[in-house]
Amino acid sequence: MGSSSVYQLALRGIKTLGIDQFSPPHTLGSTHGDTRITRKGIGEGVQYTPLSLRSYQIIEAIEKDTKADLLQITGGLIICSAPDSRARHTQAFFQNTVDAAKKYNIKHDILSAQDVQKKFPQFNISNDEVGYYEYDAGIMRPERIVERQLALARNLGADIHTNEKLIDFSETAGGVTVKTDKNTYQCQNLVLSVGPWLVKTVSEKTFDAIFKIYRQVLYWFDVSAAYQDFSPPAFPIFIWELKSDQNGMYGFPAVDGPDGGFKIAFEQYDKTCDPDTVNREVSKDEIESMFKNYVASNFPKANSTCVKSATCLYTVTPDGAFVIDWMPGSKRVVLCSPCSGHGFKHSPAIGECIADLVTTGESRIDLSSFKLDRF
Ligand SMILES: Cc1cc2nc3c(=O)[nH]c(=O)nc-3n(C[C@H](O)[C@H](O)[C@H](O)COP(=O)(O)OP(=O)(O)OC[C@H]3O[C@@H](n4cnc5c(N)ncnc54)[C@H](O)[C@@H]3O)c2cc1C
Repeated sequence: MGSSSVYQLALRGIKTLGIDQFSPPHTLGSTHGDTRITRKGIGEGVQYTPLSLRSYQIIEAIEKDTKADLLQITGGLIICSAPDSRARHTQAFFQNTVDAAKKYNIKHDILSAQDVQKKFPQFNISNDEVGYYEYDAGIMRPERIVERQLALARNLGADIHTNEKLIDFSETAGGVTVKTDKNTYQCQNLVLSVGPWLVKTVSEKTFDAIFKIYRQVLYWFDVSAAYQDFSPPAFPIFIWELKSDQNGMYGFPAVDGPDGGFKIAFEQYDKTCDPDTVNREVSKDEIESMFKNYVASNFPKANSTCVKSATCLYTVTPDGAFVIDWMPGSKRVVLCSPCSGHGFKHSPAIGECIADLVTTGESRIDLSSFKLDRF
């Protein structure tokens, strides 16, 4: 969110300083692990689709201008158990997806279990499940996109200070004073996009109750023996609202060659963590349990060798939606917390909206669902 905001502000000729405590892209926040799902029919709510559509345009334009490989269309499959479709994962996720696709003319098919079995035999779907297939869904490359936006911002004159930590900020009549561990700056506006460090950065007491941080694990399982079946175009990105699990799982085709594995993960909301002390190792037990509970029965052609794993952090609000709003009582400090596990695909457009907000006070895309006072 920081790199897209910095890029969009620099694009408008605004004097921009980007500050990060580490050197993005890095593996300590929420924006790593090689791939992110992108899709246009957004099951988290129809209000997200304009952000997604605009993000495709921004990324395609950056790709065209810089010849970078940032977005890969693989198609996307969402599977849901028909009788339970309104209660799993995000409330009404499947139906919201279909509604958004219809509203915005997004090319899709509704598939019966038999259709899925025929088209995507890699998925061991049962007869009472249904599928939604979106033609333009695919993969965004988070590290490359961060890197590219920061490089573009630098070329446009932005200053990017890495390995510099924000310690404090305060508003004055004429601007914002920002203190870091290296310097003090005066600015007109501050965009706070500190990901899972939000509660640690801001002294608002109420934020503790609103923003919770959860450790998530990403796994890459070996599919070398069935590589063609697990790579595009045969294998799409997927979200599977499993009958046996309230939170569901999601995954990606193998995109890093036969030895790279296919990436798969589920979401956990049981145990919160602190971004500075969280356990970043993935244990043998976690890998075995992932294979046993999620991979083996659903993807019979995958095997139990885990070629890679990583931890990553979700920032989650009570309704699972973003917070993109002015800090309480402020018209200078914007809070940008679009995590909750589904923010990356929207981040290019969010950066543009943030740039709108701080330069004109209005955003081109309606952000009213993301206001802080809904809590
Ligand atoms: C496992 C996982 C899977 C996901 N899958 C998807 C997906 O498939 N599709 C999708 O659209 N989204 C997905 N998401 C969500 C998406 O990746 C996040 O919403 C998004 O990347 C969050 O970006 P951010 O900029 O808010 O946070 P971050 O990337 O964490 O960035 C915050 C930055 O702020 C810096 N910072 C913090 N505190 C300070 C300070 N005091 N001083 C200076 N710098 C500071 C940090 O160093 C960091 O670089 C997933 C997230 C995770 C964790």
